[in-house]
Amino acid sequence: MRVALAFFFHETNTFAPAKGDLEAFRVAGAFGGIKRGADLIRNTDINMPYAGFVNEARSYGWDIVPLTGAGAVPSAQVTEEAFETIAGMIVEDLRAALPVDAVYLDLHGAMVAETFDDGEGELLRRVRQVVGPKMPIVISLDFHANVSREMVELCDGMFIYRTYPHVDLALTGQRAARHLKKLVDGLPRQAKAIREIDFLIPAAGQATATEPLKSIYARASDLERATIGNARISTIAVAPCFPLADVPMCRPTITVYADSQGAADAAADEMAALFEMSESRFVQELWEPRAAVREAMRLAESPGSGPVVLADTQDNPGGGGNGDTVGLLRALIEAKAQNALLAHIWDPDVAATAHDAGVGAVLHLGLGAKTGWAGETPVVADWLVEQLNDGDTRGSGPMAKGWHFKMGRCALLCHGGVRVAVISGKGQCLDQEQVRIFGVEPRALSVLALKSTVHYRADFEPLARAVLVVKSPGPVFADHRDLTYRKLKPGMRVMPGTPRA
Ligand SMILES: [Zn+2]
Repeated sequence: MRVALAFFFHETNTFAPAKGDLEAFRVAGAFGGIKRGADLIRNTDINMPYAGFVNEARSYGWDIVPLTGAGAVPSAQVTEEAFETIAGMIVEDLRAALPVDAVYLDLHGAMVAETFDDGEGELLRRVRQVVGPKMPIVISLDFHANVSREMVELCDGMFIYRTYPHVDLALTGQRAARHLKKLVDGLPRQAKAIREIDFLIPAAGQATATEPLKSIYARASDLERATIGNARISTIAVAPCFPLADVPMCRPTITVYADSQGAADAAADEMAALFEMSESRFVQELWEPRAAVREAMRLAESPGSGPVVLADTQDNPGGGGNGDTVGLLRALIEAKAQNALLAHIWDPDVAATAHDAGVGAVLHLGLGAKTGWAGETPVVADWLVEQLNDGDTRGSGPMAKGWHFKMGRCALLCHGGVRVAVISGKGQCLDQEQVRIFGVEPRALSVLALKSTVHYRADFEPLARAVLVVKSPGPVFADHRDLTYRKLKPGMRVMPGTPRA
């Protein structure tokens, strides 16, 4: 049994300032650049779907034929050049690898290319063309997939993470491999049912450890063990959506695979009804920066331990932000917050200047806001260089175990009681090691501001005294009413709880 494997990740925020060009895929960031052949799967001791797939497949004695793998940090549309180059490599490597018995693709599911609204649908179409209608293709997708009907039609099994923060990446790949094994062993052709929900869900309301998604996922797991009539449900793929994509397939979906169409439809209808009944509970309370800092300082004085965590959700580089807005930083400085840290500000120029000046130097300069989002300007002040590092560290938390973070040249700058962890390589702060590398123990802080929407919760929430979600400027819009969508499906509502047109 020979299984071809490829991965291609991009989460496209069509409202973000920068596009995903070929260079964004080439940089050796978290995904290690564009890889081909054996390099793709050299490390399978990592929390990634393809790694979980490979480990499970090898336990069956299958041969894995690695094709091409690439990923970039979220941004606006993938350029035509980047899409054609990488999709072209995958197709070319697949042709060269033939004959194979099956194909596994590890994808995001919310990729928008300049030339295709449905990036994964287009890639699947090309892969299907190479292998023909009968060969099994199974895929895994990010929790934030915007699943199109074409994607469902073009593959024989779709597996989506069930956690946000995404701690079950490898597990999702393993589930895909198990499904493929069942198909190979003669599972009858599965009926599919897809249901589309007619409101977008903001990312901050999609955490799976809290309601309403906690109960919704619990019900999905129960249904997967159920029989309806004589038919078994083989899997349920729930996608709460990536809402910052102005494309027709941007909406939550539920896809059910079952032995009969009746069973698939019944389970899909029940899951859709759960979303609809829970609509008003998907909205997360948002704090203005100044009010959030005041509340954080008050809470930090109250009994308890650990930092008050402020989530700077709208500038999350994991959702398409540049990680350099300063609304929350200004609020911390104005309020004279003490023992506070902001992780991170992306500012390669300032990091380089700090490395040239050395530890102990005091630099009078403007920090952050180099992108100029929302008319913001850098925070000009005297900054003490407290620590310097090379930004090279490995994740240890439940989500990023084994991930290799390359944050470029980094500097810890301090002004009064506020410290800022400055990075040169853009990326979301979601693991405690990304703070420890600055010589700071997260647990010992009073206030910890993080540019993240939900992923920080996996490693930081357990030590947090409290968590406040802050609405400071940035392109990862927490309230979609601040945006103008043009291409959504007719009848879509941009926030839960808003009236139907
Ligand atoms: Zn995601």
